[in-house]
Amino acid sequence: MKDSNFLKENNARSIWHPMAHPADSRANPPTIVTGAAGVRITDIDGHEVVDAVGGLWNVNLGFSCQPVKDAIAAQLDTLPYYSTFRGTSNDKVIELAEELRDFFAPDGLSRAFFTSGGSDSVETALRLARQYHKIKGEPGRVKYLSLKKGYHGTHTGGASVNGNANFRTQYEPLLPGCYHIPAPYTYRNPFNETDPERLARLCLAALEDEIAFQGASTIAAFIMEPILGAGGVIPPHPGFMKGVRNICSKNGILLIADEVITAFGRTGSWSGSRHWGVQPDMMCTAKAITNGYFPFGAVMIADAMAEVFENDSSGKAAIGHGYTYSGHPVGAAAALACLAETKRLKVNENAAARGAELYAGLQALAEKHDIIGDVRGGHGLMCALELVSDRATKASIDKPTIATIQETAYRAGAMIRISGPNVILSPPLVLDSADVQTILSALAAGF
Ligand code: PLP
Repeated sequence: MKDSNFLKENNARSIWHPMAHPADSRANPPTIVTGAAGVRITDIDGHEVVDAVGGLWNVNLGFSCQPVKDAIAAQLDTLPYYSTFRGTSNDKVIELAEELRDFFAPDGLSRAFFTSGGSDSVETALRLARQYHKIKGEPGRVKYLSLKKGYHGTHTGGASVNGNANFRTQYEPLLPGCYHIPAPYTYRNPFNETDPERLARLCLAALEDEIAFQGASTIAAFIMEPILGAGGVIPPHPGFMKGVRNICSKNGILLIADEVITAFGRTGSWSGSRHWGVQPDMMCTAKAITNGYFPFGAVMIADAMAEVFENDSSGKAAIGHGYTYSGHPVGAAAALACLAETKRLKVNENAAARGAELYAGLQALAEKHDIIGDVRGGHGLMCALELVSDRATKASIDKPTIATIQETAYRAGAMIRISGPNVILSPPLVLDSADVQTILSALAAGF
């Protein structure tokens, strides 16, 4: 490995980081991670900490998942690449599609379209939604609805349905015909409603109102995360997603579940949709599908929707969409091994149990520290603290204070993620109770 000074200097000189000002890495050098094992990462200066971010919500099985590593190495030896564009396929991706079909059967999803990651999965689902309506003879259904504060990646379609201005403003104009509904975010919402159930009803009414205003026959799909992740971990009332499902069905609108974070156990259930008892028309997955070891994703498609494509003879159903790396055999091999380990270890159960400990610990911290305005979680291993400078007015916290908290927590043993005023916690699903306590005490050191 090159020496530490070389790496730090050249990082600042040559790399533009996602979600950062290009000059930021000189003023605030990033943590250069050089190793990882179990649920811990090691940086270039030799600090070892619990990774409370889980890579980027994706390293669900930790950094030492040997079966996934072995599967990648073996596949590189056998077939390092072949495309799945019309005319060719590969054995691993076929095997994976069958496994995913079983895994997502309770969600009513049986066909897979493979991608290289979450943004690709979102883009795929948005495009297939429009095509579905064209095949069905409703070409006017082209608009998309989504939630404010939702995150759907950064391709142009995904950014257009994103509900956070930070990912939109500098890239506008985005896709026309995208409209955003208030999120069921109890801590702050335009209705000043603090009861989750009443708030869910208000947001659902806003959705119905927007559909009536736009005209149902102009809307292709509604896309939502079952639990909003990057927007600050916002779990809706348990009836919310079901309400969305009913409204979509009543209006002929497809429901796309963006489960790039929530699929494969993070919520304590095998998918976020299942967590809420909902069957979507499409589900976007990525991230934990390969434990973060290989860029890969899949859009899962419901039977009824798939049959519209498969039974069409009008010439509109050929899929004019796809990626060089759709169905990459190495990614498929990684995903097969990852899925087997995910099920064998029943990581959803550990996510639920450790998630409950983490959430309780965060609530205890909030009793001691006024800087914590809101604690969100309670559904597996996705939690957030929203920090404020004044609890009574909910006035926002300044960036230097939150940066100091992150730095102190890191020195005290945990990598945490900051997103706006939120501390986001999404550790690997295989962590134990002692790791949860390490995260909590590191956070406490920061406050
Ligand atoms: N959708 C959701 C819900 C996400 O959380 C993310 C990434 O965090 C994406 C889409 C985009 O995924 P990727 O960064 O792999 O393109």
